[in-house]
Amino acid sequence: MSTTGGSRFLKQPLASGVAGAGSDKRQTMQSRDILLREIQRFNSGSLLENQMFLVVVSAADIKRYDDIIRIFGYKFAEAMLTIRLEDLKSMLPDIDVYQVGFWSFGFIYDSTGMGDHKVFLDSLVEKLSSPVICRGIPIPIKAGVGVCDLKKDLGSSEDLLQSTFLAGQVSGTSANEWVSCADEKDDHRRAFSLISDVFSALTTPDEFELNYQARIELKTRGCTGVEALLRWRHPTLGVVSPGEFIPLVEMTGFIKPLTGWVLAKALAQTSAWHKRGYLLNVSVNISAKNLEEADFITLLQEKLSYYGLAPHYLELEFTESSLFFDQVAARNKLQALRALGVNIATDDFGTGHDSFTGLAANPANIIKIDRAHIATFSEGSRTQTIVKSMVTMAHDLGMIVVAEGVETGETLELLAKLSCDYAQGYFMCRPMLVDEFDAWYVKTYTDAAAI
Ligand code: C2E
Ligand code: CA
Ligand code: CA
Repeated sequence: MSTTGGSRFLKQPLASGVAGAGSDKRQTMQSRDILLREIQRFNSGSLLENQMFLVVVSAADIKRYDDIIRIFGYKFAEAMLTIRLEDLKSMLPDIDVYQVGFWSFGFIYDSTGMGDHKVFLDSLVEKLSSPVICRGIPIPIKAGVGVCDLKKDLGSSEDLLQSTFLAGQVSGTSANEWVSCADEKDDHRRAFSLISDVFSALTTPDEFELNYQARIELKTRGCTGVEALLRWRHPTLGVVSPGEFIPLVEMTGFIKPLTGWVLAKALAQTSAWHKRGYLLNVSVNISAKNLEEADFITLLQEKLSYYGLAPHYLELEFTESSLFFDQVAARNKLQALRALGVNIATDDFGTGHDSFTGLAANPANIIKIDRAHIATFSEGSRTQTIVKSMVTMAHDLGMIVVAEGVETGETLELLAKLSCDYAQGYFMCRPMLVDEFDAWYVKTYTDAAAI
């Protein structure tokens, strides 16, 4: 394939020694170090009269890449990456490409006197968004392309490389677009800000906070527990919902410290409630990526014992899509957690295409019926029949049923009639900061006011 008409690359290769796809960690680090030195060279003023750009290409987004490894294995994924690297190099005949991460590559591009560099970047994205044909199998993967203008003073070489890498990750989530570190587009800029600010937010007190939403037992109408829901009070963007930032954080390595933070905070709060005599359970949302951490269970046990909580007070919620049970390792981990006494819930039940077949091998002991079913639920409706079947089936399998998104008293009563076990939703209370929750709890339960 051809490069963009008229684009010119550095005629003198900046450095030799290109690491190939699948090269080991040491080689990748060496390759990355060479690129960092080159960035440093331009950053410190050399050749600044030229129009120099740093470009980082992520061959596939992390989730997609994980799926490929899971389905086809490492060797196949490596072969696929090698093909994509060759595609990239064929577009860049005169310049060196460096491996900067397992699935990402960086290079410096000189567009001096060649007009609009955007044309070249568009063609790069187009080429790298076509399916890779590996061992005769077409794999649809979409590359992410991040770009940084080396003329702009955007920090140290490490910062530049990191920012360009993150811009590539943001690009991977949007339709056929490359993303610049100094992107003017609102949605890109916002995603980019969020993704790059996670780490500092984790070390800044009060940027992340937890809201708690009550779970009500339908038989007694008592509040038996809470779900911890994360909020981010971003210094410039205001309160950001987890629905927006969790998928972005999952693309970085930061989901581990973030979930660790949520677990510690939620367990500390639950322990404080227990000391006051409120024996509440706590549910925490966990990402599928967390299950891949080798020390997830050990760290969880350490936290439980640090806060003096028995495991049965904790529930971990996983969405259906993360509980695909051909993943033997994930299933074994969930079984180990159950054996410890930790409760496991399948969140958003009834939204995945595999809800029922997945259940047979699902180690979860709780299902949370998604609010999409509950919202359209009324006496005599077809949804009522569906919800009724879900409750019966879950009970037959020995599982506990929670209905989410209960917004009216009528829905609550219907759920009680169907023998659903627990309910959560705005009708009882919205998610609240701890002080508000405490006031609600005391008012609702010590004033004996029925819900
Ligand atoms: P989810 O786990 O399904 O959480 C329930 C969501 O429904 C929450 O949105 C909650 O505020 C909202 N909700 C509760 N009751 C009602 C109701 O009656 N009606 C309606 N329309 N909505 C109701 P939120 O807090 O924005 O969280 C969105 C999602 O973000 C969560 O969905 C969960 O998947 C994820 N999330 C939240 N906190 C965390 C966290 O700490 N870690 C991870 N990995 N994901 C989290
Ligand atoms: Ca949840
Ligand atoms: Ca849910």
